[in-house]
Amino acid sequence: MGTGSVMVPVGGVYIPARLAMRDGPRAESDRTVTKGKDMSEIAWTDKTWNPVVGCTKVSAGCVNCYAERMACRLACMGQRKYQLVLDGTGIVLPGDPNSDRYTHWNTEVFCDESALKIPLHWRKPRMIFVCSMGDLFHESVPFEFIAEVWKVMAFCPQHTFQILTKRPERKVEFLKWLENKHTYDGGALLFKKEGGGWIHKQWPLPNVWLGTSVSTTRDYENIFHLKACRAAKLFLSLEPLLEGLSLSVDTLDKIDWLIIGAESKGNWPGRECKIEDVRSLVQQGQAAGVAVFVKQIHGIDPFINHRLTSKGKPILLKYPKDIAQFPADLRVQDYPKGAK
Ligand code: SF4
Repeated sequence: MGTGSVMVPVGGVYIPARLAMRDGPRAESDRTVTKGKDMSEIAWTDKTWNPVVGCTKVSAGCVNCYAERMACRLACMGQRKYQLVLDGTGIVLPGDPNSDRYTHWNTEVFCDESALKIPLHWRKPRMIFVCSMGDLFHESVPFEFIAEVWKVMAFCPQHTFQILTKRPERKVEFLKWLENKHTYDGGALLFKKEGGGWIHKQWPLPNVWLGTSVSTTRDYENIFHLKACRAAKLFLSLEPLLEGLSLSVDTLDKIDWLIIGAESKGNWPGRECKIEDVRSLVQQGQAAGVAVFVKQIHGIDPFINHRLTSKGKPILLKYPKDIAQFPADLRVQDYPKGAK
């Protein structure tokens, strides 16, 4: 720390005053959401939009991929676009219900042109998680297709788009490519209109948030790639949280939002996520003035503690989705300042 740095207490820890005062608190939004029938079950978003489906596992966080499990279910129900990106034919032999089920990503991705315009038809402003069933920045998705996704977002100023990736280095490359391809004009980017002509859009788009996942310390590099991107908001998804993480105030500089979540496998907890690690991250985020959203935690139900796993550990239960059931200090579901 340089000579003359003044430290001030924030959230129980001391941080440099320059950071405490930087453009006020970033964790400030009075956003309230009432989830309707057609809304996503993912707590931190309203809807999902999947112009790209399918993926390849790239990190420890991918091991029990939720999207893969969900895609298998949809493929078994006959949805063609998921069948294309999974192993298996779905032809089940009589007497053997598991004979050829869809089971794993086959490493193909499907760019669904027919899904591109869906958000244009949603009139009500929504928070939209882009590509919940894959990764928009998978190496097989052409930049030209990602640019089409950007164009739709540019033409939907009523919505907020949240793009989460485990490949933030490709996101950096894409943004450079996009900026070079389009014409800059006074801080705006020119997008071609459907019926001809051009439209100026503020750049970076004010309604697009960019995020990356960090499950273990081996993912730290993702944060530095993300911070190289220009976006209205930058966020980190610490889900599934697989070990304790230490995020300094400087590391969290420029980050607007932290989502923290334990792993789930259907209705059961996945790999262990310690409550102390969640608690520590909530405190680290709050100390840096970052909005924190605790999505899901694991807990040990005191009434079934007598039940142990084969390794002698108590069986973990997922807490109910209602955050009222979380320990009081983890009932935190904030959005970044200015979120609509
Ligand atoms: S990057 Fe996401 S969608 Fe792809 S395998 Fe990993 S967890 Fe699943």
